[in-house]
Amino acid sequence: MKILNYINGEYVEPVSKKWLDNYNPSNGEVYSQIANSNSEDIETAYQAAAAAFPKWSNTTIDERSIILLKIADLIAENLDKLAEAEAKDNGKPLSLASAVDIPRASANFRFFGNAITQFASEAHESVGLNTINYTLRQPLGVVGCISPWNLPLYLFTWKIAPAIAAGNTVVAKPSEITPMTAFLLGEICTEAGLPKGVLNIVHGSGPSAGQAIVEHPNINAISFTGGTKTGEHIARTAGPMFKKLSLELGGKNPNLIFADCNYDKMLKETVRSSFANQGQICLCGSRIYVEKPIYDKIKKDFVEKVKQLKVGNPFDEDTNLGALVSKEHLEKVESYIQLAEKEGGKILFGGNRVRIKGLENGYYLEPTVIEVFDNECRVNQEEIFGPVVTIMPFKTEEEALQMANSVKYGLSATLWTTDLNRTMRISKGIESGIVWVNTWLNRDLRTPFGGMKASGLGREGGFEALKFFTEQKNVCIRYEGFDTN
Ligand code: NAD
Repeated sequence: MKILNYINGEYVEPVSKKWLDNYNPSNGEVYSQIANSNSEDIETAYQAAAAAFPKWSNTTIDERSIILLKIADLIAENLDKLAEAEAKDNGKPLSLASAVDIPRASANFRFFGNAITQFASEAHESVGLNTINYTLRQPLGVVGCISPWNLPLYLFTWKIAPAIAAGNTVVAKPSEITPMTAFLLGEICTEAGLPKGVLNIVHGSGPSAGQAIVEHPNINAISFTGGTKTGEHIARTAGPMFKKLSLELGGKNPNLIFADCNYDKMLKETVRSSFANQGQICLCGSRIYVEKPIYDKIKKDFVEKVKQLKVGNPFDEDTNLGALVSKEHLEKVESYIQLAEKEGGKILFGGNRVRIKGLENGYYLEPTVIEVFDNECRVNQEEIFGPVVTIMPFKTEEEALQMANSVKYGLSATLWTTDLNRTMRISKGIESGIVWVNTWLNRDLRTPFGGMKASGLGREGGFEALKFFTEQKNVCIRYEGFDTN
């Protein structure tokens, strides 16, 4: 099977006629060929997007909204097909793709299809100056959207939906590791009546296709989700070109557990936040800090629960953890487990590859719990992005906050306590864009989403995303002596 580019409403081969292998992580086999696009493909996609822009940016809000809602419906109608494609491409459990990834992709279009109808400009009279000021929010033109492999369709559509809702046209690139559902999105958009050229999906590697999007002189904004190193590189290229930039980058999120928490709920959710999607969610709570009096109990109970998780074929109903996304990523995660031992950490559970009968070449790893004794060790400071979690105790609230804030990242944090005053203090003091208290990954799409420090720049979600994808322009009209004839 060939993963073709979707440009100007048509599926087309890459100009170079070159292809990349696409692996199925559950068995390690190549199962499709991805268009290996370069700057020529990006130019073709750009030309299609630029040609579609004048008309699309002048369609009424109602017309745009109807098309976005239709795309949402079609994603929901194709849930089984899309979820199977996602599980096969990414290695995640089919149950997760069916319950979370694909419904969320549909919700992204539904949310922004509705939100755009409420996104209006402000106006006011400036008394004494005899003027009326109003603010135009105009689409930016052709924008670039680049997304990672961990939540493929979910994050791809999280960018595309607000971009087109706001009247932009798009050149988008999904991860070359998980291109399948983005490929299928093309035919859904055509069926929904999205005009040709409004969304152009180009496949290929980061250094070739991705870089060409970022470097393109007339692609006015880049919305990027991915690793911090790639984000730095993109910022270096796009900054001097004065492009609008949204960067959603890595995380190393703390999970602060106090002795007064609701214990059972905390335990269940901490297992989920550590290992959902094989720990490959930027929001996973990968550092667990526990108040000293309950540390030994949690350590024991947590490990007991983790032992019960089943690593298996993503297509089996009772699988909790599927395969990691690629051989390279599996090896990177394993290297951190080895490093943990060198750094003096203690593996409380896991650390080994899992061989699944009939899928011996798949990329399976046990959920791994590492007790660390030095907050500053690399395993506790660097993003691993796999089924690996560290655990260590703290004595005081101040120490917990200091340890939580000690990393270069600042994406999300989770707090388990029933003390409201403490909740307020820690929420204010913690350096992260999101704080979940007594819950995890509880998302209302109206709320701002994004990170501090090396976790990124800007916010997505709700009107924040629509603001990013529009330029504000102040219009000041002096009405005194205004000729109304
Ligand atoms: P990555 O940075 O390697 O790749 C992300 C995307 O960028 C891919 O499409 C890739 O092809 C492209 N890319 C790579 N080099 C490029 C370049 N020079 N120019 C333009 N595009 C380029 O990240 P990944 O490994 O796919 O994803 C994992 C990372 O994403 C983790 O660090 C994770 O924390 C992060 N992430 C962050 C969020 C968030 O919302 N903050 C969400 C999900 C994942």
